Amino acid sequence: MQYKRILLKLSGEALMGEKQYGIDPKRLAEYAQEIKEVVEKGMQVAIVIGGGNIFRGLAGASNGMDRVQGDHMGMLATVINGLALQSALEIEGVETRLQSAIKINEVAEPFIRRRAMRHLEKGRVVIFGGGTGNPYFTTDSAAVLRAIEIEADVILKGTRVDGIYTSDPEKNKDATKFDNISFNEVLSKGLKVMDTTAFTLSQENELPIIVFDMNKKGNLLRVLDGENVGTKVNL
Ligand code: UDP
Repeated sequence: MQYKRILLKLSGEALMGEKQYGIDPKRLAEYAQEIKEVVEKGMQVAIVIGGGNIFRGLAGASNGMDRVQGDHMGMLATVINGLALQSALEIEGVETRLQSAIKINEVAEPFIRRRAMRHLEKGRVVIFGGGTGNPYFTTDSAAVLRAIEIEADVILKGTRVDGIYTSDPEKNKDATKFDNISFNEVLSKGLKVMDTTAFTLSQENELPIIVFDMNKKGNLLRVLDGENVGTKVNL
């Protein structure tokens, strides 16, 4: 295997599966199985999970809510998703720890970098909840930040599309997929991979990003096996 330690970013929306809101238990179980396979290969797996299936601060703000208040709700949503994923992984027999960026000690460990790394070394999956712990950020930024902190080799962004295209493949049937692309090319072509804060943090720290379709069974392992799945963004 090419990578020893990975950080997997899963969006909250992905957890909805066929539903319009919340968590689809079937989808959750599928993800847990995929993650288990990777852990069994001896890979160290950390996960950052989003909260968009429950609440987004921006959506609250557009309805007149205070943005920071909304972002706090969004961060708590990611903790809810983290708990759900932790449960699903434990059902699969995968040892898991949930660490939260906002203190919620009865529910999750606080984020402590050294402790997180120790869990990973012991083969436990570490789920990071609560985003970065700060409003005005996204869980993509949290994913890049945590990946750098724990010295992950790569960040895997599981999405609904199977990589980065020349234009939106759902709108333009002539769009073609990149297998590899540089950070600069993504920026100069105006392609969307992550929000700018997250993307430039990744670029500055030379952390490669792989965008791939997490909903296709076996894809996570395929990516890690070095198969030509998804798009890799590199220097
Ligand atoms: N959020 C935040 N700070 C962070 C990460 C997340 O305030 O560091 C809030 C923000 O309101 C965001 C919500 O949590 O809208 C859910 O996260 P995100 O939208 O990134 O989830 P995803 O799109 O991955 O489901």
